Amino acid sequence: MGARALPSGPPLLLPSPVVAVADDRLREVRLLLKRDDLIHPDLPGNKWRKLSGNLVTAAERGAGTLLTFGGAFSSHIAATAAAGHHFGFRTVGVVRGEEHLPLNPALAGAVRHGMRLTYLDRTRYRAARNDPALVAALAAEHGGPSCYVLPEGGSNALAAEGCAELAAELVAQVPDVDVVCCPVGTGGTLAGLAAGLAPRRAIGVAVLKGAGFLTGDVSALQRAAFGQVTTNWRIVEEFHFGGYARRDARLDAFVDDFADRHGVVLDHVYVAKMMYAVFTMAADGRIPPGSTAVAVVTGRCEGTSHS
Ligand SMILES: *Cc1c(COP(=O)(O)O)cnc(C)c1O
Repeated sequence: MGARALPSGPPLLLPSPVVAVADDRLREVRLLLKRDDLIHPDLPGNKWRKLSGNLVTAAERGAGTLLTFGGAFSSHIAATAAAGHHFGFRTVGVVRGEEHLPLNPALAGAVRHGMRLTYLDRTRYRAARNDPALVAALAAEHGGPSCYVLPEGGSNALAAEGCAELAAELVAQVPDVDVVCCPVGTGGTLAGLAAGLAPRRAIGVAVLKGAGFLTGDVSALQRAAFGQVTTNWRIVEEFHFGGYARRDARLDAFVDDFADRHGVVLDHVYVAKMMYAVFTMAADGRIPPGSTAVAVVTGRCEGTSHS
């Protein structure tokens, strides 16, 4: 898909920069950050990587509208709205639960970018996950005849392919990379990253509790996107800090200290947990001494929670 053109849009900082982190606590591990958070203010990180191929395909199909799903704090909904605004698609966001006014920052931003919001109660929302007919009805009702549907979280096969391109970009910048770490929400980013990195290793850091199901989800996404499951990745589950969007004093202290030392403010929901895991694994040898590790900064701190 690299050769296929996007509709014209805003300038994007691609390839995203790679910067070194000097920090004694890393012992003998050389750590670099892949600053995907700098790609575009409205289209950061993995949200852009996952949307790009879908935008190309939507444009090729002549779709006028993008419709997608998410919770009330969904950064995927916000990014889809921004993508529609910048690349010339109407957008519809199907939000789980009831409307709460005033809108939170994620949804207010989506509306500012022209997105139409519609709400589904939790039961119907859950049903829509496994009911193509219900999704088609929603698309027909809210999106019109030329509607392109993105799943919740945006993780489909095209999204995984976009994250495989992230891996290719990174390997060109850091040819001796041994292991790459990223946070895991739905697993689309890890699925593509690992496929593009093989045989180098990828470690996904789950940001939610009870993340055992994610291994199956990542495998399914790899199968859908690449026809096979690679064996070069794993998910570590012990860095959820109590669950999705939860945080504690230890994580907050780590984030403050990281900002002081390195001038990068880590997003609490995803990137902070991943970075904490990287430092822990560098210290305990799970990331072996002597290796070159890259942490993907998949998004930026917005002062709001995500989903
Ligand atoms: C959405 C998001 C993720 C989760 O990515 P998945 O592909 O769903 O695993 C990770 N990091 C940031 C910053 C995000 O906004």
